[in-house]
Amino acid sequence: MAVRGKVLIIEDDRAICTFMRRVLEANGYETIIVHTGHEAVSIAASHCPDVVILDLGLPDMDGLEVLADLRRWSLMPVVVVSARTDEREKVRALDAGADDYITKPFGTSELLARLRTAIRHTRMTNGNASIAKENRFTARGLVIDYDKYRVYIDGRDANLTQNEFKLVALLGRYAGRVLTYDYLIREIWGPNKAYDNQILRVNMANIRRKIEKNPAEPQYIFTEVGVGYRMIEGD
Ligand code: CA
Repeated sequence: MAVRGKVLIIEDDRAICTFMRRVLEANGYETIIVHTGHEAVSIAASHCPDVVILDLGLPDMDGLEVLADLRRWSLMPVVVVSARTDEREKVRALDAGADDYITKPFGTSELLARLRTAIRHTRMTNGNASIAKENRFTARGLVIDYDKYRVYIDGRDANLTQNEFKLVALLGRYAGRVLTYDYLIREIWGPNKAYDNQILRVNMANIRRKIEKNPAEPQYIFTEVGVGYRMIEGD
């Protein structure tokens, strides 16, 4: 099996380390495991991994400090691991340059999916291969046409407003990754609207009515509670 990439696991919980090593190596990844933040920083520099899995609760350093340290010199993808309830921590990590997060406890397929997405995004300049090639994003009947500023569902124009289109277009460019509420608001409405989540919620409700078969159970744009939104991965 060809090596899919080298994964640096920064995690002090030995049981989780063992679980991740077994899953990743069975799926063709090489793994390096460290249990402290200080080791992590030097190992990351000497081994240049393709992706880093970073536990935010380390014994010697705050995981966010490790992230800040890495980001001073590297854009290597970082997926943070965090406890289920701590949404503020996830938002801080994403805003500090994490590529994605995974919530404990997590399963095999979720772990592999997050890693694949994180690695793919750094290997491509433009998020999604078909966006780079033909300026459109497609996922299960959803088409974002970046030339025409249109979104189609099963071939039918979804008739989005300008801001609704901008939101869907942005989520499509980073498909598979969660974009935080603040990031989306700043990108669409500018810095002065930051922290006004209501405007975003209203727009997202309208978008879902137009593109989802059942807005209560979305299949294209998912809510990451307390954090942001995530577009389904492209075809
Ligand atoms: Ca920990």
